[in-house]
Parts: sequence; structure tokens; C-alpha cells
Amino acid sequence: MNSPVGEKKRNGSLLHPYTNPVRQQQTGTTLTAKGDGVHVLDGDGKRHLDGMSGLWCASLGYSEPRLVEAARRQMELLPYHQTFDARATAPALELAERLVGLTSEFEFDKVLFANSGSEANDQAAKLIWFYFNAIGKPRKKKLIARTRAYHGVTVMSASLTGLALNHNDFDLPIDRVLHTDCPSYYHYGKPGESESDFVSRIIGNLEALIEREGADTIAAFFAEPIQGAGGVLMPAQGYFERLQEVLTRHGILLVADEVITGFGRTGQMFGSQTLGIKPDIMNIAKAMSSAYLPISATLLSKEISDAIVEGSNRQGMFGHGVTYSGHPVCAAVAIEVLNIMQERDLVGHVREMSPLFLSRLKRMEEHPLVAQSRGVGLLGALEILKDKSRRVSFALTDGIGLVLKQAALDEGLIIRPLLDCVAICPPLVVTPSQIDELFDKLGRALDVTLRTAQS
Ligand code: PLP
Repeated sequence: MNSPVGEKKRNGSLLHPYTNPVRQQQTGTTLTAKGDGVHVLDGDGKRHLDGMSGLWCASLGYSEPRLVEAARRQMELLPYHQTFDARATAPALELAERLVGLTSEFEFDKVLFANSGSEANDQAAKLIWFYFNAIGKPRKKKLIARTRAYHGVTVMSASLTGLALNHNDFDLPIDRVLHTDCPSYYHYGKPGESESDFVSRIIGNLEALIEREGADTIAAFFAEPIQGAGGVLMPAQGYFERLQEVLTRHGILLVADEVITGFGRTGQMFGSQTLGIKPDIMNIAKAMSSAYLPISATLLSKEISDAIVEGSNRQGMFGHGVTYSGHPVCAAVAIEVLNIMQERDLVGHVREMSPLFLSRLKRMEEHPLVAQSRGVGLLGALEILKDKSRRVSFALTDGIGLVLKQAALDEGLIIRPLLDCVAICPPLVVTPSQIDELFDKLGRALDVTLRTAQS
């Protein structure tokens, strides 16, 4: 398995997530063999600039020796031990302290580790239910999320997700999960409606939903500061301010899903800072370890963690935890990510790179296929439409996303088509010339896609 052999492999045993398995059987599986900075190399040595940081996660690129060294050191010292039964490893303890310190403006008090973003959202839901039971409000159990949200794939996090693909065929969402409007004015503003009227309308819809269900039955609202996998959707101006006021008034907790927006992506350490949100709970994963190892966490306000501590004491213990919660090797890598981010002022670097990134993104609107560009920090998307003046989408059967993805790959660029858009999320360590390379390649790939669409 160490020596890459050819680009395409016929693959029978691996069920690829988020892949059409019939098409995969026809085209074969592309082997990713090696990483080098912001690039990955296929089995045949073809080099791609990874415009998606893997899956929005490899923020330090693919060959950061300090992360490898941090993992190796911890592997040698102690490759695993648990955090159950009042034991802990030094990296798990240190990482929890560092995360609470890093988020001090949000006043989180405790950190619960898991392995993935999905699990972080899943455990957040359980902790919320535990909290409301513990404070004697057992009716407060329903969770609200938004259409086009992406919160993961476990039963709970897929239920919170607001995409049909994750619900249809799985009998989801489960009861107790409700969905309300996506706050993208570009997509859901009515003709002639101002952005502030749009916000008033969707906040009014939320208030009506709360009224219908009864505020005493609603526990929490889950929100990505910027909806990622739903299409990198920027919330309408003023949305979060109005949202937070409604939630506070009704005693509904706000959970920020920072799985994509955490760790510098938006030009501040957390998307909640960029969007001016004050969450009660924050979920983080992905860039927390620069994707080198799986680790995620849920950060809890003091009020919630105090109630959970008291409730657990009444029960005899806290009845939740996964085997690898706070895994020492993953935690050691996450600590080193924080060290590197601080020493190299990576958030400052994102802020420095962002104007070039966003201006190149904006320039793509000149392309006949690009109806809109949107982004913040080093996170962006282009809306790809069949007829941009009349806002007509391509049919799924046109397969235009696949054409664009392949044309980009032919150019040596990885991007990600999502619904009507293409997402762009390069490693945070990207340089100006690599940003130019990314958009030059993307422009040529769009030209190829246009020719295919017209043929
Ligand atoms: N939350 C958000 C905002 C995400 O973007 C994702 C994954 O893309 C998840 C949760 C789920 O994370 P994971 O795939 O690690 O379970």
C-alpha cells in the first residue's frame, strides 16, 4: 500500500462516502498518494492544488513536520489512554485548558472531546437534554436548525442537517428536530424585498414556529456562523443579532457549529467572532488538528456545565463518553496546531491573504457561468447558473458540477461542487501566488465547463 500504483484503481470493497457508487465502479477510484504543502499528488504523480483543504480541514497543508513530530513524540510516550474514571493524559488536560483560554470571550467552562464534527453535534444535543432535565425543565427538548444547514451524519446531526440528501432514504429527521429558514438573502429574498425586510420575515417565521410549538418545549437552536456544505451561505446582514435576541427572550440556547468556521477560516479565530455571536455551546473539529488526526470538542457555558456536574452527581456519574474522548495523540497534534497558529500568526495571515482571495473570487463573476461570488476570510463560493440573468439553475441531470470538478482536476485543482455552487476553501497557509494559481486554474476549468454546457 505504500507505493502508489497508477492513478485509477478498480475498487470493489470500499464504499465511498458521498459518492455515486455506480459511477465510481465505472470510472474507478483515484488514488491520493502524497501530500506536499497545499498540494496533493495522485498515484501517477499528478499534482493538484487542494482548493478545499481536503474537506474544509487541512488548514496547515499536508506536510507540516511539527505536527508529525508532535504525533510521533506522543505515540512513543503513550499512544493511548482514556479520560474515563477520573483519569486523563497530559495532552487532553492541556488541550481543554487551551481551548477554554482561546475562547475566553465566550466564557466557556468545560470541554467534552469526541472524534468528529457529527459526534460533537450529537453530544451537544444530549448535553442540552441533560441540562434541561437537570434544571427541572424536562419539557424543553426540541431543537431547531435551518434548511441548508450541515451538521453531520449521525442520527442526531443528520436530523439537524437541513438537506434532503441526508434525510431521504434514512427516515430522518427524528422527532424533536425542527427546521426554519436559511438566512441567505441572495437565495431566499423575495423580488423587491430589502435585506432587512428579509431578516424581519424569517425572524418572524421563527417566532411563529416558537409560538406554535411553545417556547417551553424548545431547548436550542443550532447554527453554523456561515453555512458551509449547504453552499457557503452568508447570513443576511443583521440576522444573528435579531436571532440571538429572540433566542434569549425565549430561553433557547444557541449552539454555534464552528466545525468549518473555527480556527482562523473567517479571518478571526472563530466564526462567532466574525459574525458577532455569543453562543452557549460551541462545537469544533476539522482544522482543530489541521485534519492530521480525528478530534472534535463541545465547549459548554458555565451555567450548562454546572448543571451537568450537579445532575451527574445525583445520578452517581456523568453517563456519557466515547473511548477516544481526548485521545492523547490527537490532542498533542491539536495543541501543536494552536502553537503553530500563534507563533506564525496564522489568523493574521488569513486576514492578509483574504483581500486577494476575495477580489479574485469577485472577478470570477465576469464569467458567463458565475452568477454570484461570496466569501469571507479564506472561505468562498461561486454560484454557477445556466442563465445568470434569469437565475436559472442547471438540472442535476446536466451533471455540470461533475464537468467542472473534472475540468478543474485536469488543470491540477481540487474544488467542490455543492448544489448550485462550487466551494473554495484552500489551506490557511496559502500564498499569494498559490491564490493566483487557484483562480487561474478555476477560470480555465469554467471555460471548459461553459463549452461543454453549450455543446
Ligand atoms: N458540522 C459542520 C458545519 C460541517 O461542515 C461538518 C462536516 O463537513 C460536520 C459538522 C460533520 O463533521 P464530520 O464529518 O467530522 O462528522
